[in-house]
Amino acid sequence: MQTHKQLFQKIKISTLLDLALLIPSSYQDNQLSSSFTIGQNSIFQAKVNSINSYNGKLMVKFYLPKFNQTLQGIFFRVTPYHYQSFALGNELVIGGKLVLYRDTYQISQPKVIKNVGSIVPKYKSALKQEQTKELINTYLSLQALIDTGLSVEESECLMALHFPKDIKQIYDNGVLLDKNIKILKMVEAFNHLQKLSNKRVEYPAQKALLGDISLFIDALPFRLTPEQNSTIEAIRRDLSTKDKASKRMVVGDVGSGKTMVILASMMMAYPSKAILMAPTSLLALQLYEEACKYLPSFVDIALVMQNKEEGDYLNANFIIGTHALLYKENLPTAPLVMVDEQHRFGTKQRALLESIARGDGKRHAHFIQFSATPIPRTQAMMNSALVDISLITQTPFEKKITTKVVDKRDFSQLLGHIKEEIAKKHQVLIVYPLVEESESIEYQSLSQSREFWEERFENTFVTHGKDKNKERVLMEFRKSGDLLLATTVVEVGISLPRLTLIVIVGAERLGLATLHQLRGRVGRLGLESWCYLFTHTPKSSRLNAFTHTTNGFDIASLDLKFRDGGDILDGTVQSGTKFRWLDMGQDEEIVAIAQQRVSISNKK
Ligand code: ADP
Ligand code: MG
Repeated sequence: MQTHKQLFQKIKISTLLDLALLIPSSYQDNQLSSSFTIGQNSIFQAKVNSINSYNGKLMVKFYLPKFNQTLQGIFFRVTPYHYQSFALGNELVIGGKLVLYRDTYQISQPKVIKNVGSIVPKYKSALKQEQTKELINTYLSLQALIDTGLSVEESECLMALHFPKDIKQIYDNGVLLDKNIKILKMVEAFNHLQKLSNKRVEYPAQKALLGDISLFIDALPFRLTPEQNSTIEAIRRDLSTKDKASKRMVVGDVGSGKTMVILASMMMAYPSKAILMAPTSLLALQLYEEACKYLPSFVDIALVMQNKEEGDYLNANFIIGTHALLYKENLPTAPLVMVDEQHRFGTKQRALLESIARGDGKRHAHFIQFSATPIPRTQAMMNSALVDISLITQTPFEKKITTKVVDKRDFSQLLGHIKEEIAKKHQVLIVYPLVEESESIEYQSLSQSREFWEERFENTFVTHGKDKNKERVLMEFRKSGDLLLATTVVEVGISLPRLTLIVIVGAERLGLATLHQLRGRVGRLGLESWCYLFTHTPKSSRLNAFTHTTNGFDIASLDLKFRDGGDILDGTVQSGTKFRWLDMGQDEEIVAIAQQRVSISNKK
């Protein structure tokens, strides 16, 4: 015999609401039919009028007193049980689908119904019916549900779904009633948020960081956008206490100005130390350059990479580096730790990063991560119980990017445009689906095409994901290249300011979020730019929808609409959670209410 605990583990149930949300997939309604309707599953009170057998079949004629009708039941495999149940004159209740056959009302192999009047829930799970029912009967009660924080109405609804009294309260024509679905969505959101917030462990911070940022802000050559400001404000609130180490994720599209938020946070930490980690040396170098450019000159900044160091990291105020930082045994502890482009780090590296933020284990660093993978607002709210989230949905300036879906008929025009851009000293990037040719993909590979391009363009550079020299190739391309052929490796958030044209080969094979990342490579400094989606399926409504917006948050919502959600979840705080009732594209309001309820109940 398996214990209840084992059963719960088997179906991955960890809270009472998980169990309550395991609602029946259907109900067997044993109530007497109120009408005599052909085609309907029916339950009738019946009296056996006659019984006959021929050719091994058994024919039973029933009389239905309520409808004053006769009805024929047919059994194909006859046992002594049938003769006993359907003995002449017997009164019983039978059920089955009512049909009309050759002017005779019939039910084929009618069942004898025992629990007349009951509605029996049917569960679909990895457990046996009786096991599921035992768990439900043992643990679910109105009071237990109310105790989880649900309202009386919500609790009653769940009880009615598991212990049904009246099928009309549940279904209309076999479809769950809207009011029930709405409650299930709410319970699903509430349960998810509650579970996350229980997982969240708060630690005291090493220090309250109260540095003045006005010197830095006032010296900027531009004004911060409202969302940059509100994010900085949220971080200021986080850092101003040492009661609680902050855990925040700042999510903003490529080009939304996250670096300014990083630098402002750094100024809050000053004169204490801050550490900033980036996924590649190119990016670390870029951040270092920007920090030197924008931060007041009295701030000591150091750079730490595998084969390059600038400044004295032991004594610097601000230490910027790659994962090379993780291997410095004498890395000073800092009360503020930040991670840029966190979506580019692998799971293992992320765990290491967090270990840096852990300080002495009792007092943690304030920990802020930055991600350029936009997620829909609902998704952000669903994650917000585990980590605070700030969204930067607007970029400081509108990018001038024209996106077009093209196919092979447009190739000569495309080639012409590439020549034009290169003649203007701009750079072009062509992204291939694969390095080597493959039978399963009907597009050219990088290796197959490179000769074509190398013959036509002098400064053609080639790299791909497994290329050991990829960073060096990219550095050189940035300086002196015209055309870069690559696979999706170029997703790395480096800035190629002269890049104005990108061609994505086999675009329909990629998720919208990936396409968006790739498109984000061009026009970084406001030059007019183009993104060509090269495809054999130019009519794709998904690709065409993508051409109409450059806002990553809109694209994340589009991805949801086209049910391509996996791509968005990738690299966010938690991925893979599937909701049975909630629709991340539509249920923002419900999630917002659930979030409020959970945060109120946590404060109590
Ligand atoms: P992200 O890291 O979010 O991709 P960056 O921080 O690199 O974006 O910013 C992109 C560009 O926009 C940079 O050249 C930066 O100097 C500039 N920038 C940032 N904030 C503003 C602003 N408020 N107004 C104008 N330009 C800005
Ligand atoms: Mg950035």
